[in-house]
Amino acid sequence: MNIFGSPIMSFMKGKMLKHTPGMLTCLEFEQYIDKYITGKLDKSESRLFDRHVKVCRDCRNYINTYERTITQGKAVFEEKNLDEAVPDAVPSGLVDAVNAVKERNAQL
Ligand SMILES: [Zn+2]
Repeated sequence: MNIFGSPIMSFMKGKMLKHTPGMLTCLEFEQYIDKYITGKLDKSESRLFDRHVKVCRDCRNYINTYERTITQGKAVFEEKNLDEAVPDAVPSGLVDAVNAVKERNAQL
């Protein structure tokens, strides 16, 4: 068992960070994540945020996972858009046929 992942250690770390000037606790850090992702942290907030990421491996892992999830989500979204764009290789007759079906469906 990893002692650093234990609740006691998290608690101790929270206490320690709370008493370190200019340092966020993990709980406070979590509240900044949304702002961080949406780019709404102001200068001093982002400094606090960066500092916490540097010293806290848990939150660093957390933010990495978070960012990866968002990147993957975006990739899926962009892929979907690509599917909707018509590749050059599609014969124009087929495109016309598909459009005709679309128009007919729209009229129904
Ligand atoms: Zn943390």
